[in-house]
Amino acid sequence: MLADSYGRVATDLRVSLTDRCNLRCSYCMPPEGLDWLPNPALLSDDEVVRLVRIGVERLGITEVRYTGGEPLLRRGLAGIVASTAALRPRPEISLTTNGIGLARLAGPLRDAGLDRINVSLDTLQPGTFRALAKRDRLPDVLAGLAAAAEAGLVPVKVNAVLMRGVNDGEAAALLRYCLGHGYQLRFIEQMPLDAQHGWRREDMVTADEILAALGEEFSLAPDDPDARGSAPAETFVVNGGPARVGVIGSVTRPFCGTCDRVRLTADGQIRNCLFAREESNLRDPMRAGAGDGELAQRWQQAVAAKLPGHGINDRGFLQPARPMSAIGG
Ligand code: SAM
Repeated sequence: MLADSYGRVATDLRVSLTDRCNLRCSYCMPPEGLDWLPNPALLSDDEVVRLVRIGVERLGITEVRYTGGEPLLRRGLAGIVASTAALRPRPEISLTTNGIGLARLAGPLRDAGLDRINVSLDTLQPGTFRALAKRDRLPDVLAGLAAAAEAGLVPVKVNAVLMRGVNDGEAAALLRYCLGHGYQLRFIEQMPLDAQHGWRREDMVTADEILAALGEEFSLAPDDPDARGSAPAETFVVNGGPARVGVIGSVTRPFCGTCDRVRLTADGQIRNCLFAREESNLRDPMRAGAGDGELAQRWQQAVAAKLPGHGINDRGFLQPARPMSAIGG
C-alpha cells in the first residue's frame, strides 16, 4: 500500500508522458514555451509501463491517468495504454488531454483499452481561445470531444479553468454546450502552478463565483457529500438532473484530507502532491539496475512523507519549482 502518516492511501496514479504541449494556455505556460526535458531524461515507454506495473501489482494502484504536457504528443501512447490494460488487477485507465488530435486517436485509444477521458475546454469563442491558448485550435478540440463520445469514451468529461477578464463570462455558456452534447463539465479553480509565477489570488475566479454565475441560469442542487469520496469535484445536479456539473475548488475548498493521488513525472520522479517541493527519483535507481522491490520501497517512502495539505493558503507558501505542464495535471 501507498500510505502516508495522515491515514490516506494513494490508489490513483497520474502519469505525465511528456512536458511538451501544443497549446500555451496562459495559466500554465508562457507564449514562447519552456525548455523541454531532454529526451534521454524522459522515461521510455517500457520504463513507464514497468513503474505502472509496480504500482498496480505491488502498491495497490487501481486507477491510472495519463497526462502531461499533452499526452497525445507521445508517440507510444496507444502501446502504453494497451500494456496498462493488460496488467492484473486491471486498473481503470483514463487520459487528460487538450483534445488536439483526438479526432484521429479516440478510436485507437479506446481499442487499446482506454476507459475514460477528460478534455480541457475553457472557451467556446475562437478569439478567446486564441488569446488564452495562443493557438487557433478550437475546432480541433470540439472535433476531438465529438470523436471521444463517438468512440464510447463516456462519460466525456470537460475541464474548464476560468480567468478573470478573459473567459469568466462563459461559465453558463460552457455548461449549456456540455449539457447539449452530453459531456460532464467540471470547473477548476486556477492554481499557482504557472511557469511564469503570475498567479494572483485576486484574479482567481473562485468556486463561489462560478456557482453564483451558473445559478443565474440553472438550478443547482448539491449532490450527497458522503458520495463524493476522494473525488476532487463537488458535484451539483443541474435543473433536477440527471445531468451534473462539478466544481474543483482546489484553492478555496481544498480536499487534501481525502486525497488519494500520487504522481509520476515524465522524467521518472514521484511527487506525493501537485504542490510538493520534494520529489523522489525512481528513474536513476531503475536505470542503475534496482529491482521491483527496491523501487516499490522508494515509492512507499515518497508517499509516506506526504504533508497534510498543499499549503496554498499558508502565509509561507512557495510555489513548486516545476510548473503544471512538467508535473502532470
Ligand atoms: N494538456 C492536457 C490538457 O490540456 O488537459 C493535460 C495536461 S493539463 C496540465 C491538465 C489540466 O490542468 C487541464 O485541464 C488544465 O486546464 C489544468 N491546468 C493547467 N494549469 C492549471 C492551473 N494553473 N490551475 C488549474 N488548472 C490548471
